[in-house]
Amino acid sequence: MERRPHVGILALQGDVREHAHVLRELGAEVSLVRRPAELAAVDGLVIPGGESSVIDKLSRSFGMQHPIRDAIAAGMPVYGTCAGMIMLADRLTNPIAGQETFGGLDVVVTRNAFGSQVDSFETDLEVAGFEGHAVRATFIRAPLVAAVGPRATAIATLPDGGVVAVEQGPLLATAFHPEVSGETRFHERFLGLVRAAAR
Ligand code: GLN
Repeated sequence: MERRPHVGILALQGDVREHAHVLRELGAEVSLVRRPAELAAVDGLVIPGGESSVIDKLSRSFGMQHPIRDAIAAGMPVYGTCAGMIMLADRLTNPIAGQETFGGLDVVVTRNAFGSQVDSFETDLEVAGFEGHAVRATFIRAPLVAAVGPRATAIATLPDGGVVAVEQGPLLATAFHPEVSGETRFHERFLGLVRAAAR
């Protein structure tokens, strides 16, 4: 019998509980990850939404930046939402001074891409590979993928062509927050990546 996928959620800052709830509903074993030993115990990692510059600083002060970079390089599945997408990006167009990312995802990302007038909004998106109804996507001070490199694939775009979801092997990233709108298909897709990698 196949073992339940064991997923970690990087729990330094951000909407950790919402991801834990969705993943447990989908049958995963969920642990909160703040230390290298906790990362070593999981089959995949979720990086939640929040504030990327804070997640960056805390991951460095908790000694997590290098272990997470090493895990990504070794092929660990990682799903980043919003600030988590920013943390996965190889490059940012507008980092704050000294801001670093884990990287791994061959994209350039712009933080807070939708300006202060439209801080938050919801829209329906078609996502490559999803059956049935459109995704109701919640954007909260959201980033936008400014450029998709050759190793990454855009899987969802806004009507104006802006890329808001990307996949690259075991890495998945969304500029929006499916975990707050009852949308479970991204987490299911991620658990599929985790199962495939654990095999
Ligand atoms: N604007 C935030 C950042 O730069 C991301 C917002 C979010 O995760 N909802 O990290």
